[in-house]
Amino acid sequence: MNNTSNQILIHNAHIYGPTRDWYPGWLLTDGEKISLIGAGTPPDFPQEAITRKMDAGGRIVLPGFMDVHAHGAMGHEAMDASIDGLQSMAQFYAKHGVTSFLPTTWAASGEAIEKVVNVVTRIMGPVPNGATILGAHLEGPYLNPDRSGAQDIKLIRHADRSEAMKFLESGIVRLITLAPEFPENEWLIVECVRRGITASMGHTAADYDQVKKAVQLGVTHVTHTYNAMTGLSHREPGTVGAVITFPEIICELIADNIHVHPAAQKVLIRAKSPAGIILVTDCTRGTGMPEGEYPIDNRTITIKDGIARLPDGTIAGSILTMERALKNAMAAGGLTLSEAWPMSSLNAARNLGLSSQKGSIEVGKDADLVLLNDELDVQMTIAGGIVIFEK
Ligand SMILES: [Zn+2]
Repeated sequence: MNNTSNQILIHNAHIYGPTRDWYPGWLLTDGEKISLIGAGTPPDFPQEAITRKMDAGGRIVLPGFMDVHAHGAMGHEAMDASIDGLQSMAQFYAKHGVTSFLPTTWAASGEAIEKVVNVVTRIMGPVPNGATILGAHLEGPYLNPDRSGAQDIKLIRHADRSEAMKFLESGIVRLITLAPEFPENEWLIVECVRRGITASMGHTAADYDQVKKAVQLGVTHVTHTYNAMTGLSHREPGTVGAVITFPEIICELIADNIHVHPAAQKVLIRAKSPAGIILVTDCTRGTGMPEGEYPIDNRTITIKDGIARLPDGTIAGSILTMERALKNAMAAGGLTLSEAWPMSSLNAARNLGLSSQKGSIEVGKDADLVLLNDELDVQMTIAGGIVIFEK
């Protein structure tokens, strides 16, 4: 132990580990890492070595949530390309147990996306009292206009090499959503794989054979499964049917019970197993805000009865938070917390190639933790060994 660094001791907790639970258990952080974990009562550490000792009162400790698909909150959106906006998003997410996230763009002009990439490059990393920014998720613009969802159809296009390479060369893009069925987009999949960027299919009408080809090219992820893609039918398995059958693919799920019916969530969770699911929020500007109207690019979204819609009624992202996503998916899938928690952290960390540092409670990994009560309400969030939210 290093006496000069921040050390937090959490005891009398129900700690969920990747291969076992500790209940009651204790955990010690050292600087930004988890340094010790044990069952029962913690040993008597020298008092001066511990910065803070916390009795969790039997509450739950999970790995901090990782949200790889987060557009906005509190009136801000990644597309605003504002440092203050991204910080207040990060601070809002911290209140909901998120310890790291990917600010996510929409289909927009090359200049607008580049601005976001530049701002993310500048503030990437820990945010004061906020979730850590791990890089960016580019959701488009290389999508299928027939599956635009809430994306602006006029801004959807094929992958242009000189434009897309500018984004990739920033080095901060971790995830790209694209429509793999267009031959013009195939080079980008290959380029992502070469650079260790996760390629995801989304806003796509890819059929079974096109999904198969995408998987061969290196696509490993699917963006908000069911939404903005071809559904499952018995003669045409569609994008949904295909992604269920390929074990290489991990499926994002918006478990707000609005984007996807609980029974359809159950189908996906049963078919892929929890290890094949990444819970995301796809949250937009209105998240955390009272009901009302908010600008989104040059259009307006209305938040009413917990749903964000465009003027034509299209659902425009969510106002979901990660602890609710976990709760809803557990209920829909009939899962215990031991079965369900990897969907909110570990699976995303693995798919982004970050699981050696993040995604589970293990000695030597980042001290990214969330303390929850039995209703899964967030009591405290710790990112990199620092308390970023406390109820
Ligand atoms: Zn989205």
